[in-house]
Amino acid sequence: MDKADFQDRICRPYCMFFVEGEKEEMACLGARVAERLLAAGRIDAAHVNAAEKNRSVWEARRQDLGEILCKKCDFRAEDCDFQSPQPADDLEPCGGYIVLAHLLENRIIDQADIENVL
Ligand code: SF4
Repeated sequence: MDKADFQDRICRPYCMFFVEGEKEEMACLGARVAERLLAAGRIDAAHVNAAEKNRSVWEARRQDLGEILCKKCDFRAEDCDFQSPQPADDLEPCGGYIVLAHLLENRIIDQADIENVL
């Protein structure tokens, strides 16, 4: 997937932290995992496009995605407070997390799929 596809599919539509012109290498682990699942053919673009910003979905996955994904994300320490003990009420996770939570909730992938591309 080229940079435009990657940002158009995962970051721009879903991520409140996305900044236009940002380099792909600056993407968080959530976005990179979603990209790898696409590149591996484990999911397709339609699966990603079906994701919605749904707080109940991302809250339902806070614990398991926190363990397998966010703990390993370089953005957690300084840039992303989503997994902090007391996140702001209006804080959202990154776009990659939102897409992955949707995929897990709809049983399109399971945790092993994520762990396989970390
Ligand atoms: S929600 Fe935050 S810590 Fe978790 S993968 Fe996204 S950027 Fe990283």
